[in-house]
Amino acid sequence: MTRVEVDRDRCISSGVCEHLAPEAFELDDDGVLQLLPAEPDPAVVAEAVRACPSGALTLADRAH
Ligand code: SF4
Repeated sequence: MTRVEVDRDRCISSGVCEHLAPEAFELDDDGVLQLLPAEPDPAVVAEAVRACPSGALTLADRAH
């Protein structure tokens, strides 16, 4: 299962990840990125991680 982690100290609230994978990422009213509980397509999440302009996202593959 592919999971993603966000470093909120690095996130600049660009919204790129939300644009690419709105089922997985959501900026709240304060511009704080929230990770949604859905299990999105890993390829889409990987693309969002690559596209993040601040490097705030990392993939974390877990065995369970
Ligand atoms: S793409 Fe990166 S900088 Fe932009 S909102 Fe997502 S985590 Fe934050």
